[in-house]
Amino acid sequence: MKINISMNLNTIMTKKITLRNLSKEPGCLAEYDPNSMSIDSAKKMIDSFIEPIKKTESVKLINSINRILAVDLISPINVPNYDNSAMDGFGFKFSSLKNTKTLNVKNKVLAGNLKINHIKDDEAIKIMTGGKIPNGVDTVIPIELVNYKNNQITFTEAPKVGSNIRKAGEDIRKKDIVLKKGTLIYPSQLGLIASLGFSKIKVFKKLKVGFFSTGDEIVQVGKKIKSGQVYDSNHFTIHSMLSRLNVECLDLEVIPDNKKIIKNTLKKLSNQADVIITSGGVSVGEADYMKEVLKEIGEVLFWKLAIKPGRPMAFGKIKNTDFFGLPGNPVSAMVTFYQIVQSALKIKMGSNLKQKIPTLKVECSESIFKKPGRTEFVRGILYESDGVWKVKTTGKQGSGILSSMSKANCFIVLTSNKRNVKSGEIVDVQLMESFV
Ligand code: AMP
Ligand code: MG
Repeated sequence: MKINISMNLNTIMTKKITLRNLSKEPGCLAEYDPNSMSIDSAKKMIDSFIEPIKKTESVKLINSINRILAVDLISPINVPNYDNSAMDGFGFKFSSLKNTKTLNVKNKVLAGNLKINHIKDDEAIKIMTGGKIPNGVDTVIPIELVNYKNNQITFTEAPKVGSNIRKAGEDIRKKDIVLKKGTLIYPSQLGLIASLGFSKIKVFKKLKVGFFSTGDEIVQVGKKIKSGQVYDSNHFTIHSMLSRLNVECLDLEVIPDNKKIIKNTLKKLSNQADVIITSGGVSVGEADYMKEVLKEIGEVLFWKLAIKPGRPMAFGKIKNTDFFGLPGNPVSAMVTFYQIVQSALKIKMGSNLKQKIPTLKVECSESIFKKPGRTEFVRGILYESDGVWKVKTTGKQGSGILSSMSKANCFIVLTSNKRNVKSGEIVDVQLMESFV
């Protein structure tokens, strides 16, 4: 396919420029600048190349937490499925009230008691919260508002007709679409599905994500380390960020900087995994083989993202498997995962949530040096001072300083054009909790 230079990102969605077109002819897309991609363009582009998983499975409801619904869920019943009392009180027919507002109480209905189906006019019935409203009752008065003596109630002020009755179908009507396909199931969704009586539901299959670290200097934890070697912390940060997303991890640990081994490993993994994530080797160093290998066995967009930290990052495909090559620096690997990979994985998992990472506006209590040109994700600490929430940095911000991530509870997001931040200035903050 021949593509015009003037095509823009929206064209990807409509005309479907493939990754192969773009990797062969990078000039075909106006926003594609492999040497300085804005984070927004990179995200949009990746998201448009991701194909959501199609395979589904039926799981027990209790095991469906953090899974994604694969069908629209249609209610088989009304919820509640009968008119019932919203209060402990007395039910009666409003039109039977006389001036005196005195009624004889003949019977009572507790929740779950299905025997009493109707009452006579000018009678009342004692009824507890959740009790089924018998025919003949259209109003309930709470117990606190009546005088109850000798099986008679008296009250001075009548409630409005229809008061304190929860009508059948008030929450959900039979045949309503209750949850849409693509909904991520959290506890409240799980409770809602249970309230409809489903014991099993259809969800998308878990993504299989293969991942490994690369580097001759990288050593597994538990082993002795020599000067010049580094423990494989990326393995643990990436594994745990993946686990929180509830994907199936195919964990290959560490692979040396050896082109042949990297190539064979990627080939093999691409037959097993929906997504491959690697860390290290995506830069332009002598032992950075990812680019060469990917060119041989797949299609890849190598980007210098205009972000800090996390400049070198790759996205591509090996056959139908999506590939994310994260930078080796530990902070960069986490930042690129949170800012780019996580939302792409959610799309791949079948989620219909297209929400941006939320930001808050908070006063920054210290100055921050910032040059324009890249979006910076400064590790920050959100803290309360005299009842006001403020933010400060965690200190040194080098991309290898993992302690800056562990001290942080937020990112201070300084967009590309932004310059130095003055103390007292309002900045945008992303809560790290938003990434869970
Ligand atoms: P690279 O992207 O391979 O050039 O690596 C950049 C830096 O990150 C180097 O200082 C590596 O030693 C370090 N690094 C690479 N991979 C890991 C890892 N898995 N765990 C911790 N540090 C790493
Ligand atoms: Mg390396």
